[in-house]
Amino acid sequence: MRILVVGAGQMGAGIAQVCAQAGHEVLLNDREERFIERGIESIEKNLARAVERGKMSAEERGKVLAHIDARPHLGDLDVELAIEAATENLRVKLEIFRLLNDSVAPETILASNTSSISITKLAAAVDHPERVVGMHFMNPAPVMKLVEVIRAIQTSEATAKFVLDLARGLGKTPVESRDYPGFIANRVLLPMLNEAIYAVYEGVGSIEAIDTVMKLGMNHPMGPLELADFIGLDTCLAIMEVLHEGLGDTKYRPCPLLRQYVDAGWFGKKTGRGFYVYRDGEKHLPEAAPNGAATLARSS
Ligand code: NAD
Repeated sequence: MRILVVGAGQMGAGIAQVCAQAGHEVLLNDREERFIERGIESIEKNLARAVERGKMSAEERGKVLAHIDARPHLGDLDVELAIEAATENLRVKLEIFRLLNDSVAPETILASNTSSISITKLAAAVDHPERVVGMHFMNPAPVMKLVEVIRAIQTSEATAKFVLDLARGLGKTPVESRDYPGFIANRVLLPMLNEAIYAVYEGVGSIEAIDTVMKLGMNHPMGPLELADFIGLDTCLAIMEVLHEGLGDTKYRPCPLLRQYVDAGWFGKKTGRGFYVYRDGEKHLPEAAPNGAATLARSS
């Protein structure tokens, strides 16, 4: 199958890799060519690591890469499926869906990897809303087994079946969710991450203490602050805003400290600074908590 992936960030690149590994032809798009190149470089690094670890042969690696092509411009696209994985912002996604509407055949399935935004709203922007569906991969897409499949109110049975079958063919386990803010995964996960950020903000514990409690006490593989950095604090804030606005309950109010980090450009691992500092591929605790947090980074 020929699949277009729009957005070559951490998720778009991961989804492109998963699709290419399953033998599909992938076209990778982003708003600038340098972002497509960055995405392809990250796929190359991932595959090189898999070869080093003996999980993939060098020949297989070459085949996967040969299945991925850069596609800097949308327009006149011959694909069966487009998966949008651009920035978590309704305006950006609506613009992409309108562009896709004019670029693909009416039979093409249009999927969004959004973490929280209404699939129904995205579907309403195109001429064939019954072909729009949510296909929410987890991060990192090549590793995580789950794909949340979200039917908009307009999604047809055939469209839902198409992506459920595709997800299985990619070696994933699809789970269906209704189209309400945050779906299942982020309705449950993000309030916990936001609460951990409130705990930093209010000085309940240090960054290290909060992450250690959740790792050792709850058996989470990653602490919530490290996980928020990994997801991207910009994405976490965008999801909390969708939950807050869409569900109208103050319990979803994004923590002011999260907002400040995003205002500072501290988006987490992808920018080298979030609750932790990332240098040479390693995670470090910051020297001290920044202004605005009531606690120190390290446990005393
Ligand atoms: P990211 O910031 O790493 O990448 C976003 C990419 O979208 C960037 O490369 C950006 O240049 C590109 N983009 C922005 N506007 C565009 C446009 N008009 N056309 C084409 N490309 C455009 O973000 P990400 O973490 O990869 O998240 C992408 C999507 O996946 C979001 O909807 C996010 O909510 C969702 N998601 C994220 C995670 C996660 O853990 N980060 C997990 C599941 C789903």
